[in-house]
Amino acid sequence: VTYRVTCGAVDMQGGRGVMVSFEDITPVEQAGQMRRDFVANVSHELRTPLTALLGFIETLQGSARNDPQAQERFLGIMATEAGRMNRLVSDLLSLSRVEADERVRPRDSVDLASLVRQTEHSLAPLAADAGIVLSVQLPETPVSVPGDADQLRQVLTNLVENAIKYSGTGATVRISLSEPSFESRLRGQGVRIDVHDTGPGIDPVHLPRLTERFYRVDSHRSRELGGTGLGLAIVKHIINRHRGRLQIDSRVGVGTTFTVILPVDG
Ligand code: ADP
Repeated sequence: VTYRVTCGAVDMQGGRGVMVSFEDITPVEQAGQMRRDFVANVSHELRTPLTALLGFIETLQGSARNDPQAQERFLGIMATEAGRMNRLVSDLLSLSRVEADERVRPRDSVDLASLVRQTEHSLAPLAADAGIVLSVQLPETPVSVPGDADQLRQVLTNLVENAIKYSGTGATVRISLSEPSFESRLRGQGVRIDVHDTGPGIDPVHLPRLTERFYRVDSHRSRELGGTGLGLAIVKHIINRHRGRLQIDSRVGVGTTFTVILPVDG
């Protein structure tokens, strides 16, 4: 707890006195600390690829000046590093957009089955490259929720991309959409989208912090796979905006299921 203590002299009946006031500024301090941590994280994340780029530029201008083979190899690495910076900036922009809009209620009617199909279609090549079997399970009747189609597409894309990225060759990734039954609707339950994988799973100690900005279970592996550490933070904010919930169930060595529950009545 942080207090701001203010002292001052005051005129009182019969003489002068001293006034001391204590003000709890813990929330202000915490917000300030979070902002400082965030700026430090962003700077670090940008500096890593930038340092690599500057190093390779120097080498291309110097020792590799007359070595076409080395030049080609270094240019390939530089393209990867520049791509990493590009993804980070895109994710930062997405995050600031969804954080700023958190109180706005999205109003379009979004057909979730077609969103799931679009996601499957766009990520099928990534799954095939990684040797992953991607499947979908849809209800027979259409399911719509009030929402922002682009943002809900981003939620699905981030979750399915993670499932593909972190599960090894031969794993299965399944997206299933289920309509709430009449009873669960009465209990205020909404539509459920499960993104299930048979990947490595996540140790329970990490689950409470997984949606924090830049939180990673294994930083090295995330970077190697091109992760920015912002994907789940973006997912969480978008779901909050839709007044929904995100549930994570995982067992090490068995797999992970991310469940998005969205209200059907806005
Ligand atoms: P990143 O860009 O690192 O993937 P995210 O915010 O999307 O960032 O995810 C945070 C961390 O959660 C990842 O670094 C990874 O350690 C873990 N993670 C996310 N999805 C999965 C999954 N399906 N299986 C295993 N680990 C996962």
